[in-house]
Amino acid sequence: MAKVRLQGLSKRFGKKVWAVRGFDLEIEDKEFIVMLGPSGCGKTTTLRMVAGLEDPTEGAIYIGDSLVNLLPPRDRDISMVFQSYAVWPHMKVYDNIAFGLRYRRRKGEKLGKNDIDGVVREVAHMVAIEELLDRYPTQLSGGQRQRVALARALAVKPQVFLYDEPLSNLDAKLRTQMRTELKHIHEQAGATSIYVTHDQSEAMGMADRIMVMKQGQGSQLGTPQEIYFHPVNLFVAGFIGTPPMNMLKVEVQEEDGKMTLVSPHFELLLPLEAAEQVRRTNVREVILGVRPEDLLIVPEAGDFPAEVFVVEPQGPQQIISFKLDEGLIFKSVIDASLPVERGQKVNLKFNHSRIHLFEDETGARIN
Ligand code: ATP
Repeated sequence: MAKVRLQGLSKRFGKKVWAVRGFDLEIEDKEFIVMLGPSGCGKTTTLRMVAGLEDPTEGAIYIGDSLVNLLPPRDRDISMVFQSYAVWPHMKVYDNIAFGLRYRRRKGEKLGKNDIDGVVREVAHMVAIEELLDRYPTQLSGGQRQRVALARALAVKPQVFLYDEPLSNLDAKLRTQMRTELKHIHEQAGATSIYVTHDQSEAMGMADRIMVMKQGQGSQLGTPQEIYFHPVNLFVAGFIGTPPMNMLKVEVQEEDGKMTLVSPHFELLLPLEAAEQVRRTNVREVILGVRPEDLLIVPEAGDFPAEVFVVEPQGPQQIISFKLDEGLIFKSVIDASLPVERGQKVNLKFNHSRIHLFEDETGARIN
């Protein structure tokens, strides 16, 4: 197993399109990194450069201590699992899984037939497809085919696993099931992994650390908790979380040493520490962000009154929308047991210890 280091990695397509630009990332041995970002932000291109399927325009890729820029994919000691499964249709499941090991034997590695058989059965057991070894991929469901691709990747025990949206062709139920299994398999295999997805709940659930990408560059690297509870900029704050964080531009006012955020809808007295942080930035306007679960409906007087606009039941929870004015809707996520109806007047209160403040101009986090 190995560390992976990407240094100043860039990829330009044609003369103008920088798919990835000056990208740095250090992945620890056995770490599960998820690269997350909107469509077109450069996730797949980065992964393909690590795999050797795309040549970097600039920068260095290290696997372990070796610079691998010039190595062909088969010599990089990696396994890649694709969205499209990419299993060989003319080979039985057994032969698909054994393929990489047989290749190694041909290249001179000492691997007996029994060794190969042992590994094939071991990984087939890990991904629960022992009963399917005699079938052809056309005789399998999408989920089973993806397990075969996974088993084939596991069989060669590579230094690094690369996953390119491996679950996105599966239906929602199977996706969540495979996600749990994949995480378990990864924990057993203990391999360094880079996993590309645009599905944030997949990223949050599986990653040791998430690299959020934007326009070919890293926007924030952190644990799922850090990314969710302490986004370092407006982009990450808005990208992570469903429903998204409520955001509003507010005016900063200060009187007698007390700092207040003022909007047409409410006035919010800032805690001392946050006030000091805002003071240091010297701005007169900030973006206030509040996650829907931190916008509470309270029986007593809160931060401001509002009228319920829409109620969306979601099983154990419900999403309540409030139309503050034309084009500005705040959402609150609350327990399903709380009786709330459209048109009802309620008191809303921010969870003051969980408010997020950003600079309007740069989008950088303040508190
Ligand atoms: P998605 O989630 O949609 O797969 P992504 O984050 O993986 O997106 P990439 O596929 O890496 O994004 O693409 C990054 C940028 O590079 C996009 O603007 C894309 O159009 C461009 N791009 C990718 N491959 C090529 C190519 N072969 N030729 C020209 N431009 C390309």
